[in-house]
Amino acid sequence: MSIDFSLPDDVEAIRLRVRDFIDAEVRPAEEKLYANAPGGEPERRDVVAMIIDLREKAKEWEVWLPHMPVEWGGLGLGPTAMAFVSAEAARTNFGPFILNAQAPDEGNQHTLLHHATPDQKERYLRPLLEGRVRSCFAMTEPEVSGSDPTGIQTSAVEEANGDWLINGHKWYISGARGAKFAILIAKTDPEANPPQASNTAFLVDLPAEGWEVVRDIDTMAGAHNHCEIRITNLRVPAENILGGRGNGHLLGQARLGPARLAHCMRWIAQIETALELMVTRAESRQLHGAPLADKQAIQWMMADSAMELYAAKLMVLHAAYRIENDLPFRQEVSFAKHHVANTLWRVVDRAIQVHGALGYSTDTPLEKMLRHARAARLVDGADEVHQALIARNLRASWRDTGSLDSATGTLSF
Ligand SMILES: Cc1cc2nc3c(=O)[nH]c(=O)nc-3n(C[C@H](O)[C@H](O)[C@H](O)COP(=O)(O)OP(=O)(O)OC[C@H]3O[C@@H](n4cnc5c(N)ncnc54)[C@H](O)[C@@H]3O)c2cc1C
Repeated sequence: MSIDFSLPDDVEAIRLRVRDFIDAEVRPAEEKLYANAPGGEPERRDVVAMIIDLREKAKEWEVWLPHMPVEWGGLGLGPTAMAFVSAEAARTNFGPFILNAQAPDEGNQHTLLHHATPDQKERYLRPLLEGRVRSCFAMTEPEVSGSDPTGIQTSAVEEANGDWLINGHKWYISGARGAKFAILIAKTDPEANPPQASNTAFLVDLPAEGWEVVRDIDTMAGAHNHCEIRITNLRVPAENILGGRGNGHLLGQARLGPARLAHCMRWIAQIETALELMVTRAESRQLHGAPLADKQAIQWMMADSAMELYAAKLMVLHAAYRIENDLPFRQEVSFAKHHVANTLWRVVDRAIQVHGALGYSTDTPLEKMLRHARAARLVDGADEVHQALIARNLRASWRDTGSLDSATGTLSF
């Protein structure tokens, strides 16, 4: 039997170093930032100053770029080890950002590492890894369903000199304001068969003539640099095609699998935080002469949350293991993405319930966590997209093999 649930010593050492770094440097700096912010929302320039300072400290602590290969200045951790490191970093708002392992840059870094030409790596990947620039990934459009990228309307037309002329409209482009480049998905071959071959990825230097940030969309969790972009006669040279013409869909899928899982790793930290708050409150609140935690109804909420968190961790680890070992992973990533996003929502909601009116106030982090958690069930594939894929694989497995094994984790129970 080769199943081993213990962490190798070197990974455990990095996990603990990240935990110490977060406790010693990141959490105190964040608390100071928010304490000094009028109305609780810090100024952008104060956030940037804090991030620049903490990123230097992350390099000194040797926790910088944990997910990137050593030859690119990282710690060389694979997805399984990253599950543990991300869950430590994401216990604070800016932890992943400080390690340069936040969305969308983390996904873009992996994409460039695996699909960029040597020249593109020097121009785009290297500055991104050195923390000198930020990037964004621009696929979703307001006019067509983001769940079906074959419908993308942003068009790229090849000109006589080989340049591409791009026109279109994007929205919810995270990190767009201040990004030094975008990976932009546009339609180059509308008649392609299959339609998945109609899109191409372009590297766009920013700011650029023809790339207008219309607004930072005000979401239910506030405005957090998820921007609407109008693209008008944007010129991009042919050498800025990323991953080959017609491969935009494939590249998006390749990027999204691991990136979805990276989101799940960070959400696990949020679930743990919510459960800790739930248990703390249930133990300290007294009624009928005993702690609230003595009530069976509250114990059910605690127990359900603990079980769901445990399942979430196992799903994330198993999907990470499959990615790391070059095994098919889309089914397992869909399990994890759907389960973790919904567990996050349910556990934060239960924690609010246990806090009573206090949970509904802004005196605890829970209400803010709930507003942010809602996006988890939409981003990187809405719940139903993952359920549809899971069911499709389940039916195919039964039809083709007479077994459900390959669609239920390939664990051969
Ligand atoms: C906070 C945030 C950040 C984001 N960041 C980025 C980014 O950086 N770059 C980027 O390109 N995009 C980004 N997005 C967009 C995100 O990827 C899309 O919102 C998502 O893909 C869904 O697309 P849509 O909003 O067009 O919904 P639609 O595709 O219109 O779907 C609407 C609803 O239909 C249902 N549905 C969809 N498919 C199916 C199906 N097969 N069966 C049954 N029901 C279905 C689901 O309930 C879904 O919520 C971000 C979104 C949010 C909220």
